[in-house]
Amino acid sequence: MLMTFNIKTASRCPVSHYIYPFNINIVPGWKYIAMNCLFPTRHYITHIKMNTLLQALTLTSLLFLSISTSIHAQKLSKTEKKIIKTIEVNHESALQFLEKVVNINSGTMNHPGVKEVGMVFKEQFDAIDFDTRWIDMPAEVNRSGHLFAETSGTKGKKILLIGHLDTVFEKDSPFQEFKKEGDIAYGPGTNDMKGGDVIVLYALKALHENKLLKNAQITIAFTGDEESTGKPLEISRKDLIDAAKKSDIALGFETSTGFNYATVARRGSSGWLLEVKGKRAHSSGVFSERVGAGAIFEASRILNAFYTDVKGEEFLTFNPGVILGGTEVKFDESLNKGEAFGKSNVVPQTVMVKGGLRFISEEQKEKTKARMREIVAKNLPHTSAKISFKDSYPAMRPTEGNLNLLKILNEVSIDLNQGQVAAYDPGKRGAADTSFVADYVDCLDGLGTMGRGAHTPNETLDLTTFEALTKRTAILIYRLIHQ
Ligand SMILES: [Zn+2]
Repeated sequence: MLMTFNIKTASRCPVSHYIYPFNINIVPGWKYIAMNCLFPTRHYITHIKMNTLLQALTLTSLLFLSISTSIHAQKLSKTEKKIIKTIEVNHESALQFLEKVVNINSGTMNHPGVKEVGMVFKEQFDAIDFDTRWIDMPAEVNRSGHLFAETSGTKGKKILLIGHLDTVFEKDSPFQEFKKEGDIAYGPGTNDMKGGDVIVLYALKALHENKLLKNAQITIAFTGDEESTGKPLEISRKDLIDAAKKSDIALGFETSTGFNYATVARRGSSGWLLEVKGKRAHSSGVFSERVGAGAIFEASRILNAFYTDVKGEEFLTFNPGVILGGTEVKFDESLNKGEAFGKSNVVPQTVMVKGGLRFISEEQKEKTKARMREIVAKNLPHTSAKISFKDSYPAMRPTEGNLNLLKILNEVSIDLNQGQVAAYDPGKRGAADTSFVADYVDCLDGLGTMGRGAHTPNETLDLTTFEALTKRTAILIYRLIHQ
């Protein structure tokens, strides 16, 4: 029998310089080991000579190490098997409950609808002995509110479970109803993310029915404005951040990016506004000492330099989304719409560019802002420019703690015969609520349902994986609170 040793580790990728999970495969008798970064981008796939194994391990700064043979040691315990059984028994009821909540419209701006979905979940959490509360948002925030539910205790890890009640489909959307066809469920929020919320509820229900939640501290935070976050963030995200500060771990149930992937890192996002001024004059004078370059040449210099000098770092992207230039411009922020007036024989005096910025760490964000400011400051003759930034989502870095959580999830999945779970490429994941708590706790996201077409009228939920993902969640929570 050929026995393959598989060493799981997290190392600094020599290409991207971020810490990622690595697989090191050692086949006894081989002269080489294969080492590959578990991200889909596979930064580092190489063969290292066996006798340099030790060196390689130190070089790549090991964070954790576990050796598993092809026969995995840990299997489901008797208690865990009971949890699984309960989830199977409750599966039909979970589907009915999902149908019920999907059929209540909860577009972010339908405040009563969001609260109604919250109340339906509240009743369920009350029934399994959670202390629940609805938190209204003040009028200035212009959002519905959040549902929080918690149990208190001192056993194991303190866990925060994150979901959201709202969807992108407002009351006037034609997409309103739950519909089941074979193994596919259609409906607004089936996948993003009422399905994930139902996973949380039915995983906890199974633990409660087996009397396994006693003396554990679990906080559920279902926000009512994830799809369009209420501002100021200091108010709309205060309760979520407070809950994180008293927890050890946060698990996010946003849509899964694949049955065998979880999110250990995701990019943050900020916005930027570039405002350029030039000297208004007859076009015959452009380039002259008196008139200079005009605002449009200056704006194109800046954007071109962003493209040639700032672009290139992994996970860093920035995109100018709209540009207006000429003699006069007007832009309406709330409608993302504007107008420009200008003539070909007049040197333009104004340009505005609105853009976005995505980054993997605060360091990357700050460094990028500094480089952009530097470029903006090198003005062409008789022009001036300024750039301002507005932060919205912070980045969730691939920390050692997050990778350790992934390792636990991976073990759960293997024990359930569901296969390995690897880290999803952070460059491909959009921002979410988990990002707001990433600085305070270890976190994993993307633990929700699988499906397609989120944010479109073709949103679907894959029912073949729904029960399996609920089982995975329940066993993960069980192990974390019994650690
Ligand atoms: Zn979502």
